[in-house]
Amino acid sequence: AEAAGGGDKEAVRAYFNSTGFERWRKIYGSATEGVNKVQLDIREGHAQTVAKTLSMLRDSPLPLAGATVCDAGCGTGSLAIPLAAAGADVLASDISAAMVSEAQRQAQAALAAQPPGAPFRMPRFEVRDLESLDGRYDVVVCLDVLIHYPRDEARAMIRHLASLAEKRLLISFAPRTLYFDFLKRVGELFPGPSKATRAYLHAESDIEDALREAGWRVANRGFISTQFYFAKLFEAVPAASSS
Ligand code: SAM
Repeated sequence: AEAAGGGDKEAVRAYFNSTGFERWRKIYGSATEGVNKVQLDIREGHAQTVAKTLSMLRDSPLPLAGATVCDAGCGTGSLAIPLAAAGADVLASDISAAMVSEAQRQAQAALAAQPPGAPFRMPRFEVRDLESLDGRYDVVVCLDVLIHYPRDEARAMIRHLASLAEKRLLISFAPRTLYFDFLKRVGELFPGPSKATRAYLHAESDIEDALREAGWRVANRGFISTQFYFAKLFEAVPAASSS
């Protein structure tokens, strides 16, 4: 396993340009051939996270059509594409060039399938790690990315994402609970050597602390769980705001 520090990021980039790309493209896709039960279960859990994110954004006072959205670590575009279809002005970026070109391909296919007059706005796609993103966006979203980074890196990422966001910041992460800690200690989960990347679970309080330090507070929470997929979803707003 990688030690904390820059090593994690390079290992993650390499993984998502090779075996990780193939694995996650399959999980996030719709074909069922060659997809095992665990992968189908993770597909289902992840789809619920995307759906919950969209419903939080639709319920917020800010209309999605015309809103500027930064999807940091966009993967194959599972969230960026429905946002674009709702008329949002999306920047979809990812550290993996393979992921970005797959997301672009899927967005083009989605655009081609739109009825005439649909509000679809083609996202802007960029190969970039989220630490190097700049600009300001109404909404910043980062789904299922923090699992690849240890606590201190995750904290720095949250701080940076918060600096890009004006109104809303949505982050999902695999929650660390006493039960998980126990399983991890007895070695049933994440048996290190056979895994291409490590999985880091985060305590809710760590994520909340990082948001608070950045001047944000959690306004809404979601919890998604299937058999093999667990995620907490936080919707944060600037600490001073009332909505
Ligand atoms: N957010 C997408 C979704 O939920 O469908 C993809 C989730 S996938 C598990 C994690 C993604 O994060 C991969 O596409 C990976 O390349 C990307 N990623 C990992 N580290 C990153 C970083 N430092 N900056 C930007 N993207 C990163």
